Amino acid sequence: MAISSNASPFDSIIFDLDDTLYPSSTGIDKCVKKNIQLFLIQKCGFSESEAFTLRVDLFKTYGSTLAGLRALGHDITAEEYHGFVHGRLPYDSINPDHHLRNLLCTIKQRKIVFTNSDRIHAMRSLDRLGIKDCFEQIICFETINPNLPYSTRPDEFPILLKPSLDAFKIALDAANVDPRRTLFLDDSVRNIAAGKEMGLHTVLVGKTEKSKGADYAVECVNDLAQVIPEIWANEMDGEDQTMTRTKSELEAVLACAVVGA
Ligand SMILES: [Mg+2]
Repeated sequence: MAISSNASPFDSIIFDLDDTLYPSSTGIDKCVKKNIQLFLIQKCGFSESEAFTLRVDLFKTYGSTLAGLRALGHDITAEEYHGFVHGRLPYDSINPDHHLRNLLCTIKQRKIVFTNSDRIHAMRSLDRLGIKDCFEQIICFETINPNLPYSTRPDEFPILLKPSLDAFKIALDAANVDPRRTLFLDDSVRNIAAGKEMGLHTVLVGKTEKSKGADYAVECVNDLAQVIPEIWANEMDGEDQTMTRTKSELEAVLACAVVGA
């Protein structure tokens, strides 16, 4: 297949973190769920069976357990919750991803992380992957909930998280991107649908089939070059030139980058 273009359609690429930049096979997600249930039992006094149901129900209704607990009046700080839920995660199960690092290094557009997780977790995960310095900006829980530390009661500032459109508005504003020129990657079908509503170009990660609102689907973030080669289309300094590059040539460029790791 020949790719003919004089410019990439994307100026910026926004990546989710958990289960997008590293796979769910690390087991981190399972540990997060287990820790949330432990938090509900040990810190909030719920029984084991209540904790399981509550975690699922609060996620569906409020976007996260923390958001639900605070909305229901539990005076739990984000620091206390994140410290408990993320502080004991087995980060050594996230291994350096040299292929991903090389892939990111070949992408010349602005690269931004947008995660619902807190900054400490985001930085530790990106550090383990060996890609912390590949991103211009990390938009995280603290970015989209700046007033939370100043609340005088738990329900004063409802917690904003993806897939809330308000969370996307704050993130896109903080990133200062044009959604029509931005590619957004996430493993959550709810986040992808919301991203599409915001006018972003969307990539569902971790699946082979597109969900509602997804423009593309990639089983793994490392498959980007095969599925969306237009990311690497060449800008030709504003002159009226076009460049044709075969897909196999592009793959060769990326393969060289991997060898040079
Ligand atoms: Mg995710």
